[in-house]
Amino acid sequence: MSRSESLFQAAQAHIPGGVNSPVRAFKGVGGTPVFFKRGEGPFLFDEDDRQYIDYVGSWGPMLLGHSYPPVMNAVREMLDNGLGFGAPTAIETEMADLVCELVPSMDMVRMVSSGTEATMSAIRLARGFTGRDKIVKFEGCYHGHSDSLLVKAGSGALTLGEPNSPGVPAALAEHTITLTYNDIDNVRKAFAEIGDQVACIIVEPVAGNMNCIPPKEGFLECLREVCDQHGSVLIFDEVMTGFRVALGGAQELYGIKPDLTTLGKVIGGGLPVGAFGGKREIMEHIAPLGPVYQAGTLSGNPLAMSAGLAMLTALKQEGIHEALAAKAEYLTQGLEAMAARHGIAFTTSCVGGMFGLFFTDQDSVTSFAEATACDAELFGKFFHGMLDEGVYLAPSAFEAGFVSNAHTEAELDATLAAADRVFAKLAA
Ligand code: PMP
Repeated sequence: MSRSESLFQAAQAHIPGGVNSPVRAFKGVGGTPVFFKRGEGPFLFDEDDRQYIDYVGSWGPMLLGHSYPPVMNAVREMLDNGLGFGAPTAIETEMADLVCELVPSMDMVRMVSSGTEATMSAIRLARGFTGRDKIVKFEGCYHGHSDSLLVKAGSGALTLGEPNSPGVPAALAEHTITLTYNDIDNVRKAFAEIGDQVACIIVEPVAGNMNCIPPKEGFLECLREVCDQHGSVLIFDEVMTGFRVALGGAQELYGIKPDLTTLGKVIGGGLPVGAFGGKREIMEHIAPLGPVYQAGTLSGNPLAMSAGLAMLTALKQEGIHEALAAKAEYLTQGLEAMAARHGIAFTTSCVGGMFGLFFTDQDSVTSFAEATACDAELFGKFFHGMLDEGVYLAPSAFEAGFVSNAHTEAELDATLAAADRVFAKLAA
């Protein structure tokens, strides 16, 4: 028995399903989750000392690779001062200034400790600001697990077949209107009917929780337009895309300014940090300036801020985002060529350092319906084949993958060679 197998058995005694977040349990692909003990650069090492090339990156934060020295050193330095005071610290202002400098639409920002908190708080703020209850989201988009947002959700909720969770009161869920991602007519029709009751639209500007689906041309523009027409707040959930698809996130890449933005993952460099922010006139409604309440004992924690600040500072170096995009492009083009060689119906997507793998005979996947119609069973076989080869992909057909700047041509080529062998087996 491997150490992962015995650790997984032991974990199940006191941890529901043996994991502290559901997708980790490998429910989407079957088998035993790998227990890791160390990460360095593009590699993870499991409890049996096996090395893997990692394309999960802790679900997003490790954009510069694991144990990135400037981030590790910043945390080490801060550590000697204590772990947190629950009072203002200078580094919080440094962090807020930098985030507002980098994210085009942000005048003010509030730090929280997870992506879920960021989106939950942004929704409350949009409702408080507009005095309206209804919110619009898109099927297959995931915005964390707060009640209003667990309606037709993506990510683990989709992997586990529970996009509408029990425990969310119907009276609350009925305020969440779910539309079809990338369907402009659907958005215009809904807003013509009820636009004036809508507090906000929340959207992943590149969908990364139903695999990776880029926005169709005109889709984000349409969201901006209907929000302007109806006085609704446009929220870009950039928890995944922020600082990744471009330094200023998807809003920089596509040139569209939302009213509010939510951030997570990369912003904490691997420690628990989220943030929400945006236009000054909206942010001034948050306590203590305004009446919309939001707070956090651990918010702005100095250790987490030091990791985030070092991460964002490092990302300002010239050329990092171009390099990430080139690596993801090289990998996905290579995978498509390998699959074609073996006659496997397969396509990919990529935006910046984010990518998607689809087992389908369609040329591209642009909607939730097309993403869920892909062959998830074949993905599971591919996933396990790659895992045996020492390549760690996201253990679900409904998650985006990530390259880091630490992945060199050697790791990318080793991944392609492994995929060549795995596709050959799948074709046999
Ligand atoms: N929004 C998006 C777009 C996400 O991808 C995620 C997490 N995958 C969240 C929100 C929730 O973040 P967290 O898991 O940190 O609560």
